[in-house]
Amino acid sequence: MTIPNFVAGVWVASKEGDRDSLPVTNPATGQLLGRVPLSSREDVEGAVRAGLAAFPAWRDCPVGDRVDILFRLKALLEGHADELAGLMTQEHGKTKEESAGELRRGIESISHACAMATLLMGETLESIAPGIDCETFRQPLGVFGVITPYNFPVMIPLWFWPLAVAAGNTVVLKPSERDPLTHQRVVELAVAAGLPPGVLNVVHGDQQAVEALLDHPDVTGISFVGSSGIARQVYARAAASGKRVQALGGAKNHMIVLPDADFDATAKAVIASVYGSAGQRCLAGSVVVGVGEAYQPMRERILDGAASLKLGYGLEPGVTMGPVISAAHRTRVAEYVASGEREGARLVLDGRPVRVPEHPAGHWFGPTVFEDVTPDMAVGREEIFGPVAGLSRAASLDDAVDLVHRNRYGNAISLFTSSGAAARAFRYRAGISMIGVNIGVVAPMAFFPFGGSRASFFGDLKAQGKDAIRFFTDQRVVVSRW
Ligand code: NAD
Repeated sequence: MTIPNFVAGVWVASKEGDRDSLPVTNPATGQLLGRVPLSSREDVEGAVRAGLAAFPAWRDCPVGDRVDILFRLKALLEGHADELAGLMTQEHGKTKEESAGELRRGIESISHACAMATLLMGETLESIAPGIDCETFRQPLGVFGVITPYNFPVMIPLWFWPLAVAAGNTVVLKPSERDPLTHQRVVELAVAAGLPPGVLNVVHGDQQAVEALLDHPDVTGISFVGSSGIARQVYARAAASGKRVQALGGAKNHMIVLPDADFDATAKAVIASVYGSAGQRCLAGSVVVGVGEAYQPMRERILDGAASLKLGYGLEPGVTMGPVISAAHRTRVAEYVASGEREGARLVLDGRPVRVPEHPAGHWFGPTVFEDVTPDMAVGREEIFGPVAGLSRAASLDDAVDLVHRNRYGNAISLFTSSGAAARAFRYRAGISMIGVNIGVVAPMAFFPFGGSRASFFGDLKAQGKDAIRFFTDQRVVVSRW
């Protein structure tokens, strides 16, 4: 019942065995799906040794041969898309359509990694001084640690490890302990695609396994995605042992609506952003700021849209929103809602009492809407990570941007408008990394960088895009005279 780690091409039981493991349950039905081991330092040591042992031959493998394996994996994932989406919905709770969308985004990252040959190319310049030429090239660095969160259990691992291995590195992945099962299937398919032993290793667990990776002297770099407090600790601890680190953290995303916006299209984008995946996305809209006369029409449309969502088990037809991940997380979201009421926000749609009678054990939380949310309230300030919209007012675009800047996070921000001039002024001032204009979920595709700023990101090179190539390689420079 306890799932194995994957080390040196072999599925192996954690040395902790069944003594130390956690249940993985279906958040819609409460059904036990498996157990995940809480691996020890010794387990991590074995995985790092496997990555180190595999590195020299993998580095020597021509890039075209490395990406051929990823091309095959891409085809296998596409062929198994329905099975994988079903598995993901069972362990995460998002609707099957959302799971299929997540898988598609993960496959896009593999496509990006398949372009590694051209992405790795260096530069050459003749005669930088009489008779002297200079050139750069990129080399992989060794074993990378990748640590991922529960909310995208397949896509986020695929943001990192295919690029890392296509560049010639090896990887030890520590997936989320809350929904690790679907990615196990991805690893099986990677093996079927021909990935050699030791190139990708998977160690399950929690803080203990993560810290073993962060401290390990033979791990060269860390890619982390999770909540901001932990991202900051991971950044500091991994940097303390000299590693390169990219640590993506949490978010509090604002969506500003101007009076000249197309309100119907905007409301559709806002509803999808706030309530998609039951609000458990780092790009989820959290506060909607209505500027001037935009407030009232937006309020009406958001309330209508929220009320029209169908909560339920994501494998069942017609369901548009699933449960949250766990009972503990449900309690946390409910506590935020209670704090909003205490701090003076007006609760106009309360998702707390909503249940799905056919699935009494599910962690249900209905769409929720607050009005009069201010940046000082916990619901206006902190990441809730649940299906809760806060509505705020501002007198102008500048006031709205000032309001957003009072928040410590800097992941994504959106403006809805039909004015090019307003959009231009907004992107100039936004001061936040991922900027949307008439876009509700500001998700760049894999060939662009992904990551925030301020308390949403620790490091400098973002995930994906060209940054990932820089992160997973070192640029060497050769100066030659013959
Ligand atoms: P989390 O921080 O609880 O866990 C993330 C990873 O860290 C997991 O693998 C977990 O096992 C590990 N971990 C947990 N506690 C640890 C500790 N004390 N020390 C070291 N490692 C530890 O995050 P989560 O709840 O799984 O995911 C949700 C969070 O991730 C949200 O805050 C969300 O905004 C964020 N997120 C950010 C992005 C982004 O691109 N910025 C993307 C997805 C999710």
